[in-house]
Amino acid sequence: MSQGKAVIFCAPSGAGKTTIVRELVKRLPELKFSVSATTRPPRPEEENGKDYFFLSKEEFEKKEADGELFEWQEVYRGTYYGTLKSEVERIWMAGNQVIFDIDVVGGSNLKKRLGDQALAIFVNAESVDVLRERLTKRNTETPESLEKRINKAVEEMAFEPKFDYTLINRDLQEAISEAERVVKAFLK
Ligand code: 5GP
Repeated sequence: MSQGKAVIFCAPSGAGKTTIVRELVKRLPELKFSVSATTRPPRPEEENGKDYFFLSKEEFEKKEADGELFEWQEVYRGTYYGTLKSEVERIWMAGNQVIFDIDVVGGSNLKKRLGDQALAIFVNAESVDVLRERLTKRNTETPESLEKRINKAVEEMAFEPKFDYTLINRDLQEAISEAERVVKAFLK
């Protein structure tokens, strides 16, 4: 595989990671988003091939068996998410750098594999209460899935020390500027 640099963004659910990643991709043209595969259904505003490749469980399992995934995790019980080798290859082959928005387990595994080639950033909220409030406002969850995500967020916070950099998202615009500064310095 042709090799480039990688920026890995991980966070407990609701910390604002996805918004930061989307904004970074707009600001730094050499940074390209790795579109993951998932078996979860699309949210109303999500597009296949842009936000995720939405696959059936059978299609996902076939990709895994065929060795087409760079990493994958069962992030929620029965729901799979995975990084496609083809995405990473496409981005590096074009001379660009890749940015991943993945779960903390997948992210810390990738950091271990890529070493200095990767900058792993952990985005965190100020507290679990702030996370709960954001997830509730987002209104994309049922009460059951909201509870699942909050319990998981608490477990995910324990992964913070495995990352190169912690970004506390108190104010979104400030967090984006801080992320831009840190990522630019790494890509230089
Ligand atoms: P969501 O369902 O909210 O889009 O994503 C749930 C979690 O799965 C998020 O933490 C997201 O970053 C993570 N995720 C998305 N794609 C991948 C992937 O390719 N691999 C892994 N390990 N996690 C992923």
